[in-house]
Amino acid sequence: MSRSDEVAAGLARVRARIASACGEAGRDPDEVRLVVVTKNFGASDVRLLADLGVTDVGENRHQEARDKIAQCADLPLRWHFIGALQSNKAAAVASYADVVQSLDRRRLVAPLARGAHERSGPLDCLLQVSLDPPDRAGRAGADPEDLEALAREVEQAAPLRLRGLMAVAPLGEDPAAAFGRLAALRRDFLADHPDAGWLSAGMSGDLEEAVRAGATHVRVGSAVLGSRSRVK
Ligand SMILES: *Cc1c(COP(=O)(O)O)cnc(C)c1O
Repeated sequence: MSRSDEVAAGLARVRARIASACGEAGRDPDEVRLVVVTKNFGASDVRLLADLGVTDVGENRHQEARDKIAQCADLPLRWHFIGALQSNKAAAVASYADVVQSLDRRRLVAPLARGAHERSGPLDCLLQVSLDPPDRAGRAGADPEDLEALAREVEQAAPLRLRGLMAVAPLGEDPAAAFGRLAALRRDFLADHPDAGWLSAGMSGDLEEAVRAGATHVRVGSAVLGSRSRVK
């Protein structure tokens, strides 16, 4: 099987899973955008994905993202930054990413806004919210109690456009329960920020639960491209 056939088959399987989850949830599959996570895979795979009609791709490390985007500058792709953001890299990320999904603390707002000034249009931002217990080590994402202050700060930073929320289901917890909490957080959030209706949740292992909880974006890597350990 050629790499192209392999990627096409993975993509077809994931698109079918999204369609079937939407069917079960009574949702229109057009409401759910597939972001293929290309971290650890090369620019040649990104080209195959673009040929197969993929419009959105995700990266989680600054250097890898910057280099890959430069190699794929001719492709009409929307690039999502989904990884942990260091404040000293945030301005650079804002200059090349089309969507930043991992905005999780106020200290990132000023450098992101500074980097976004170099773009022609606004930078779409999602606030990453933590679904972990508060004492979990290494948790990523803002505490739910801090979301509102963070949202207000983003709304006042002109080149940033607040689009919604992003979350990762905690390891070792039933994703349906975690995404249930996320759906409730989002309901409250939407009441105050009606234009911020994007919800990025769901990966290879739990995209069905995320679609059921209202995800508008799923971030899927290995189910499309195969195991990342093989290409490390
Ligand atoms: C790697 C990654 C994904 C994709 O994970 P898969 O299990 O390969 O689908 C999704 N979201 C984030 C934040 C990631 O870092």
